[in-house]
Amino acid sequence: MRQATNDIALDYLLQQLAIQQPSPEQVITPSWSGLEHLNLTVKRDDLLHAIISGNKWRKLQYSLLAALQQNIAHIVSFGGGFSNHLHALGYCCHALNIKFTAIVRGDYSANPSPMLKDLLKWHTDIQYVTKVSYRQRDEPDYLRQLQDRFGKVMIIPEGGSNELALQGIAELVDELLQTYDYIIAPVASGGTLAGLIKAKHNTPCKILGIGVLKGEDYLAELVQNLLPSDLQTLPSAHWSINHDYHFDGYAKSSQELHDFCDDFYQQTQIAIEPIYSGKLFFALRDLIGQGYFPQGSKVLALHTGGLQGART
Ligand SMILES: *Cc1c(COP(=O)(O)O)cnc(C)c1O
Repeated sequence: MRQATNDIALDYLLQQLAIQQPSPEQVITPSWSGLEHLNLTVKRDDLLHAIISGNKWRKLQYSLLAALQQNIAHIVSFGGGFSNHLHALGYCCHALNIKFTAIVRGDYSANPSPMLKDLLKWHTDIQYVTKVSYRQRDEPDYLRQLQDRFGKVMIIPEGGSNELALQGIAELVDELLQTYDYIIAPVASGGTLAGLIKAKHNTPCKILGIGVLKGEDYLAELVQNLLPSDLQTLPSAHWSINHDYHFDGYAKSSQELHDFCDDFYQQTQIAIEPIYSGKLFFALRDLIGQGYFPQGSKVLALHTGGLQGART
């Protein structure tokens, strides 16, 4: 039996799930042109846990804590067939004895992905919906219907990007052992970048997002909408999103990117995948080569984990 009181603290959760927090900061020196003028460090959030990797743990921890504290025994969330978010949340719910309903975009019942097979193993209630009905995932009416249907339930948005996610990302920033001139991270649903911006807004540190989706017109807006209102008007010098490295969209990627990921692993012994971290480090190599960062800059790249999503 788990306790169900307001006294449940984050420590309990960290222990229960065996999270390796804080994650290490590691200087890397791959043979990239221009890197000799910079300091490049990687925040290894990919090492937080073997299954619940990276930014998904950061984003989910305070929602999970709230569920335990409020004695909510059922969580509902949304994602695609390879979603790192559903994977992380599915595992956490299983380990914490919380019922989990995953609303999945598209019908994979005949051919579940490795991610979905894991969810089945963890007794997730998987509900496949059409792309059209998936589009309702943020609509208040639809969410109210889900609330009515499931009763006492916590609904977490796609990607885990809610207000509590920003608090978890702030913790990652608190862990940092030194100050940096730049922090660079991949962007999909925007919660990670919003969390970094919020935590660093009153420092000289610049936050640079690498868009992994074809989202020129809306990614910045997603991030803005997650920020507290007084930070929505931050000058653009504080943060920006670069859209040159999405490789045509989310899971699409080129041979060049795959080769880059292999080469990066050879040089650093750090595994990356072509959906998020591969694009991040590819962009970094390119930007460093172009002289984007002033000489002597201290750059921190956030390894957000996500290796499970690249399984086929
Ligand atoms: C979800 C995810 C991201 C994107 O983070 P957002 O907060 O959704 O922008 C980046 N990297 C990995 C590995 C992810 O799983």
